[in-house]
Amino acid sequence: MQEIEQSMKLVTQQTLAKRPLIISGPCSAETEDQLLATAQQLAAIGKVDMLRAGIWKPRTKPGMFEGVGVEALPWLLQAKKITGLPTAVEVATAKQVQDALFFEVDVLWVGARTTVNPFSVQELADALRGVEIPVLIKNPINPDLELWAGAVERIARSSIKQIGLIHRGFSSYGNTEYRNAPMWHLAIEMKRRFSNLIMINDPSHICGKRDSLMEVAQKAIDLDFDGLMIESHIDPDNAWSDAQQQITPLRLSEMLSSIKWRHETATEKELISVLEKFREQINHLDDELIQLLGQRMKIAEKIGIFKKENNVTILQTNRWNQILEKAYAKGENLGLSKEFITKYFDAVHMESINRQNNIMNAKG
Ligand code: PEP
Ligand code: MN
Repeated sequence: MQEIEQSMKLVTQQTLAKRPLIISGPCSAETEDQLLATAQQLAAIGKVDMLRAGIWKPRTKPGMFEGVGVEALPWLLQAKKITGLPTAVEVATAKQVQDALFFEVDVLWVGARTTVNPFSVQELADALRGVEIPVLIKNPINPDLELWAGAVERIARSSIKQIGLIHRGFSSYGNTEYRNAPMWHLAIEMKRRFSNLIMINDPSHICGKRDSLMEVAQKAIDLDFDGLMIESHIDPDNAWSDAQQQITPLRLSEMLSSIKWRHETATEKELISVLEKFREQINHLDDELIQLLGQRMKIAEKIGIFKKENNVTILQTNRWNQILEKAYAKGENLGLSKEFITKYFDAVHMESINRQNNIMNAKG
């Protein structure tokens, strides 16, 4: 364990140290022309530190574009030669690590669908033994901090000295506003646990669409993230994967210019910024609470429809008592008073009842 902590201390000093670190490039390398043109445009805007491109794409459903594969690695090398930008690719198997290293990829990242699987992460860690290359680890697709932390520890136990984290949001059934819910509190907790690792935000995979990228990127910067990974493409609408969330290098440039970058400043201002950080955290948690309350009320409405169809009463006292007792017990462990829990649940319960009432008594 001490060994791991020791190796992590070295992390922020080298390739990943630049702050903010801006990584951009297409979701997938598609053709040599597409990759080279994107890389050249990104280099021309002068704000990007590293070129990303997916070569092997872990797609949710079969039959989708699964990446060009090893054939695209020479394109990436060529892009580096032309632009001087270091390159980053996602790897999920030992063979992919070997191929990427052979073609002089500069940074590897572990994708969200790989971080969930300790066998795969271990395979990568074994393949990386004796290798010195920075590795970025995306959060797992499910909101499980221990899996994320476990992946960091596995990679740190190989010879990898430079590790960074990428927050790309968490998938859950019924996500609406975001493709992957940011659940900022999990990224914040991970930052707290691994305070010497850099934390990069990936607004593209959180948002799933272009229009909210800026807002999410700004939130990440307000929360003191160390950089951004944003997908870009010369012709986003016709991208072979993740078309809706990619932006042109020009749009990226505009976005990076309008982000308010936060700096470390003098003592008094530092205090204010600490306060701001706490307030940002509260704002994010409040946003999430409202989202969750909205989801809760939608389910209450479905229950209302079911009860109406089956002629069941709205208020079921036993069920309500069970909910309250459970909440009191949980609340006590978290330092929430019985009085507060009662007030909160009464308000939520009344809103549920009102909605169900409207449904039960609706004509037709
Ligand atoms: C990607 O970066 O293109 C990717 C597949 O991301 P994630 O692992 O976050 O889904
Ligand atoms: Mn993508």
